Amino acid sequence: AKHDGKNAVRTYSAGMGDETAARMDLERDLREALRNGEFVLHYQGQFDVASGALSGYEALVRWQHPVHGMIAPGRFIPVAEDSGLIGPLGTWVLREACRQARAWRADERGLTMSVNVSPVQFDTADFARLVQEALEEAGIRPECLMLELTESTVLRDVASATQQLQRLRALGVRIALDDFGTGQSALSLLRHIPIDQLKIDRSFLPGPDDTDESAQVFLRLLVMLGQARRLNVVAEGVENAEHQALLREMGCPTAQGFYLSRPLPAHQATALLPQIAAP
Ligand code: C2E
Ligand code: CA
Ligand code: CA
Ligand code: CA
Repeated sequence: AKHDGKNAVRTYSAGMGDETAARMDLERDLREALRNGEFVLHYQGQFDVASGALSGYEALVRWQHPVHGMIAPGRFIPVAEDSGLIGPLGTWVLREACRQARAWRADERGLTMSVNVSPVQFDTADFARLVQEALEEAGIRPECLMLELTESTVLRDVASATQQLQRLRALGVRIALDDFGTGQSALSLLRHIPIDQLKIDRSFLPGPDDTDESAQVFLRLLVMLGQARRLNVVAEGVENAEHQALLREMGCPTAQGFYLSRPLPAHQATALLPQIAAP
């Protein structure tokens, strides 16, 4: 079964046989994967709701495993975080995303490149320096880089997180609060922390079971909250024309989701570039 793609990947998930052994296998494989360059970034477009123009990309890491095929980040990011490998992996993601932003001339085109940051990375003393080095190495303007953090990352220690956020913003990069609404954050967090963008979690877009108005009320409220703080609001998980129409009606500025574009390998994501509104 080791060489049967589907079964082998399942040994990487908890609950299948000897968990500890599977996890150690995975750790060892992750270490090798970093050395062998088996990670790739896919890029999902973000779009201006009113005009349909491309406004940026989110970089999403995948593991192109030589035996098991493409592995989603949900399967290996937690292990990378526990084992300390997230440091080098996160730095690779940052540098690669900046390099691609340069290749696309994202800053000249006014596009953002969004990069997910693990709490483990964010809490590292030299994180701001690593960000600065990635920007300099790629030669892109800092405004082009959007670092995505989740509420829990910030809530672990609001005071020191605020300091780190200020350090990063002093570099000129921008900060997004990811998966907003899913954490246990008090709304007061949103009032005070220094951020630029609010990403509304996809669970707030109405599903087929949401027949009453309450789902829409929450979504509308989150869009308004973000706008009250003059944040760029991005709705995640836009999966159909109804979602898109609802966001347009609510005045949500930016949207991301399978309906607009799937995450794509760089050579395919390049095809989205012409979708920039003419100046
Ligand atoms: P996320 O940051 O919330 O990223 C969005 C996830 O939602 C992506 O899954 C994306 O493929 C998926 N998605 C996008 N549009 C839709 C949609 O319309 N419907 C649905 N159902 N899903 C949609 P993916 O790529 O599997 O990433 C999962 C999570 O892994 C990310 O969630 C993020 O937390 C983490 N991750 C991904 N790349 C990195 C990375 O480079 N570093 C770190 N630390 N975490 C990462
Ligand atoms: Ca994200
Ligand atoms: Ca998200
Ligand atoms: Ca998430």
